[in-house]
Amino acid sequence: MKTAQIRQRFLDHFEANGHTVVPSLPLPFDDPNLLFVVAGMAQFVPYFTGQQTPPYQRATSVQKCIRTPDIDEVGKTTRHATFFQMNGNFSFGDYFKERAIQLAWELSTKAQADGGFGLDGDRIWATVYLDDDEAIDIWHKQIGLPLDRIVRRGMADNYWDMGIPGPAGPCSELYIDRGPDYGKEGGPEVDEDRYMEFWNLVFMQNIRGESTGPNKGDYPIVGELPAKNIDTGMGLERVAALLQGVDNLYEIDETRPILDRAAELTGKRYGEKSGPAAYDSHPDDVRLRVIADHVRTGLMLIGDGVTPANEGRGYVLRRILRRAIRSMRLLGYEDPALPELLPIARDCMAPSYPEVATDFGRISTYAYAEEEAFRHTLRAGTTILDTAVAQTKKAGRTTLAGEKAFELHDTHGFPIELTLEMAAEQGIDVDEDGFRRLMREQQQRAKQDARAKKSGYVDTSVWRSVLERGPSEFTGYQEVMRESTVRAIVGVHGLLSAAGEGDEVELVLDVTPFYAEGGGQQPDLGRITINAAGHEAELEVVDVQAPVPGVIAHKVKVVRGEVRPGDAALALVDVGRRAAVSRSHSATHLLHAALRRTLGDTAAQAGSLNAPGRLRFDFNNPSSVPSSVLTDVEDEINEVLLRDLEVHAFVTNQDEAKRLGAIAMFGEKYGERVRIVEIGDYSRELCGGTHVARSSVIGMVKLLGEASIGAGVRRVEALVGLDAFRYLAREHVLVQQLAGDLKAPAEQLPERIAATLDRLRAAEKELERLRAAAVLSSAAALAGGAEPVGAVRLVTAEAPSGVGAGDLRSLALDVRGRLPNGDPAVVVLAAPGEKGVTFVAAVNEAGQSAALSAGDVIKVFAPALGARGGGKADLAQGAGGDAAKLTEAFAAVRAYVSEHSQR
Ligand code: ATP
Ligand code: MG
Repeated sequence: MKTAQIRQRFLDHFEANGHTVVPSLPLPFDDPNLLFVVAGMAQFVPYFTGQQTPPYQRATSVQKCIRTPDIDEVGKTTRHATFFQMNGNFSFGDYFKERAIQLAWELSTKAQADGGFGLDGDRIWATVYLDDDEAIDIWHKQIGLPLDRIVRRGMADNYWDMGIPGPAGPCSELYIDRGPDYGKEGGPEVDEDRYMEFWNLVFMQNIRGESTGPNKGDYPIVGELPAKNIDTGMGLERVAALLQGVDNLYEIDETRPILDRAAELTGKRYGEKSGPAAYDSHPDDVRLRVIADHVRTGLMLIGDGVTPANEGRGYVLRRILRRAIRSMRLLGYEDPALPELLPIARDCMAPSYPEVATDFGRISTYAYAEEEAFRHTLRAGTTILDTAVAQTKKAGRTTLAGEKAFELHDTHGFPIELTLEMAAEQGIDVDEDGFRRLMREQQQRAKQDARAKKSGYVDTSVWRSVLERGPSEFTGYQEVMRESTVRAIVGVHGLLSAAGEGDEVELVLDVTPFYAEGGGQQPDLGRITINAAGHEAELEVVDVQAPVPGVIAHKVKVVRGEVRPGDAALALVDVGRRAAVSRSHSATHLLHAALRRTLGDTAAQAGSLNAPGRLRFDFNNPSSVPSSVLTDVEDEINEVLLRDLEVHAFVTNQDEAKRLGAIAMFGEKYGERVRIVEIGDYSRELCGGTHVARSSVIGMVKLLGEASIGAGVRRVEALVGLDAFRYLAREHVLVQQLAGDLKAPAEQLPERIAATLDRLRAAEKELERLRAAAVLSSAAALAGGAEPVGAVRLVTAEAPSGVGAGDLRSLALDVRGRLPNGDPAVVVLAAPGEKGVTFVAAVNEAGQSAALSAGDVIKVFAPALGARGGGKADLAQGAGGDAAKLTEAFAAVRAYVSEHSQR
């Protein structure tokens, strides 16, 4: 039975039993604690915790899952894939244990002809939680499972919770005995590959309390859930392996074709050297399974919008793709592998996920680009690693130094996993601790550098001591002017008790309207005036940073007077700049929203800059954005400006933000309270920046263009407000000038200019032809002016500058032909040009008989010019050298000829 059919049978079974079919969540999940969805229950959590009321009491789904901890198990066990599908049925306060067990048993054992899976009930085992006698009774008395196939297991295996206080409960798992070929006898406790778990039933009946220790299960059970729930997960691939009669997950219809193609490309015969059990697998076969699994996972991940990156989800994708590619290389295949394998993965998955076929253009662009990048990295790093390993071995050591691993990572982009793997293949360990220490040190340095650049002060302890006096309060959302008190003054050597005229210091106020640079938004600038008993001061704010969260540090120049901690201060933000930066920031949100609407949700923000009058926006996109699309985006943004939408900011909690669908940058750390900025109903983003009050205030947005700034990342730059207007006004003046000069209306300019350029090119060609004709027509005069050197007639002449080698050669041959046949003749012509002199020598037959050679002529002529050249006895040529030495060079030729004419 095909996997797609098993999937459908599952949904049909539960739909027929009153369950609502719910679609899968995409793999990337907007829970900051999780990289990917790991189980079918993910989308139902709010129903289980009681935060939301479920719209149905029973649901069923086939959820796409990725469990990153299982990456290392792939191919080594028979049952762990990175990407897999979890079929689930869920009850929210409706049926419980008894019905859940019945439903699972029925579908598992019902004959295939009747719509079931037809598994042999005599080979099924069940595990239950230690004291769950209720479950044991159902299995034994109702289902008829003999007691020796019901196993009690402890907390670690058979008790489920969410890692936090909330719903929890015992589980019961269904295992199938695959027989003695797959491992030792004795039930799931003894061998989990022979006795393979295929379905887990969770009975949510308890409430767990706060953790009391570091281990799973270190918490008290504080009560019973008022409404009990069911959450089950059946591994679709595992059941497919059982029903398709194959030994493991990687051999089912959704992966085997990839594996076969990989085997074909690498010339391996899959399975030849392995037995059916996991422990009896040949390393080549393990690699082929890894390749098949990872290529499929890569397809599904990119399909769901993940793109390769150096951190977070993108890094998992990168690791998976690179591991597949490297496994192909280790099996001896060195050409690009993904173009061969990915289309097969697409064909395998399209029956259940048609979008991987319709979206294959985008998916493959990312995948193939990643392979190219990796091939580049491999070329650079492999030799270095091999040398280092050889040196390590030669020195009689078995551990590669942490410094080497770090160097490979730092200068060659070699991920540590790769170094570990490649070193292990050559029987060498890596000093991973040393590597991690160097990584930490480098991160520390980078942070300090960044902080030093921003705050002028390296040591954060001083900022922490400032923070102990309380966080700086930011009031800049509501006001641009504020009376406050100087809390601290910091200089390069630490806290100061005063700063005087000419000093540059960092000033911390208890309350400030100044926005510190952050979230891409440039800092506020302005002035702070001090009016204390006995002294006054005028400070210019040149930068504002948050060196540690909670501290707002104003970098100030003391223009006049003196300032001390405790002084009363008046902070005045430069409102012109603030307004311009706010316009850019709001415009950036509109650009982000417009790009997503046009290019899809994968056009997610990767970075931004909001400066007065201009903005920069980086986003993910596999290829360049056509200028016609950019024009549409620009048009849409300007239309939105005119709608005069209200900009509204409010603070809420994460869950509410999620429910509202606010765009958040993945990887950014948001606290439980988040601020949302809405521009009408057009854009909604998590953001801590300052914004305009209404969209029309932005005035105008002009996109300047789009470019690549890295694999899969594009950058758009734009001008905002008056700057956009001035830019367009300047362009207008330019166009008018051109129109005046060309005496044509603006709209005809492109045509006019193209026509003018054509005429210019034609004229240049004609000029060249005329010049060549003129040169050639001088042949008679040159021949007439031949000078006798002994018996030889010698012509030396400088042709007009710029004459090409071809014309010069024709001219030399023409001159040679015009000289009397019987007399030895030598012709040397040279034309100075931009890149040195072009020159030709020709000798007639009589000259050659008299032992004169054009090649020899050039051998004396070229060095005299400082040029190079050569040729045969009748014709030779060369180029280069200095035209100022032509007279000398001609003299050298004359000397050569006279020497030969005397002999
Ligand atoms: P195992 O101990 O075999 O790793 P598990 O206890 O981690 O399984 P659960 O968390 O109970 O599995 O997940 C529910 C079901 O999902 C399992 O019964 C199994 O059929 C399936 N499953 C879990 N992990 C994987 C995986 N990496 N690949 C394929 N199927 C899986
Ligand atoms: Mg597991």
